[in-house]
Amino acid sequence: MVAGVGNIYACEALHRSGISPRRLALNVWGSRAERLAEAVKTVLTEAIAAGGSSLRDHRQVSGELGYFQHTFRVYDRAGEGCPTPECGGTVKRLVQSGRSTFYCPRCQR
Ligand SMILES: [Zn+2]
Repeated sequence: MVAGVGNIYACEALHRSGISPRRLALNVWGSRAERLAEAVKTVLTEAIAAGGSSLRDHRQVSGELGYFQHTFRVYDRAGEGCPTPECGGTVKRLVQSGRSTFYCPRCQR
């Protein structure tokens, strides 16, 4: 669980840091927690630079659509190949607390 980040960005940050969304938060510590904290910062910085993610009705203050959704690695990509080089896994969808979570079971542990 990544509190307060938002489902899309939590999925993307977990994939980048190689952490399974099934892993309990109490088991994310040490170097794993450091990787996750870095990934959250990177994903949010990239998303802000891209103007956010327009899935339904999000728009920037200017009225323009965001375009970070085009760079999602796992979010809404169930059935597609994992984008991590040489992983060879397939992105899966998992429902947790009524929300869809997307992850690669091969490289996210
Ligand atoms: Zn993978």
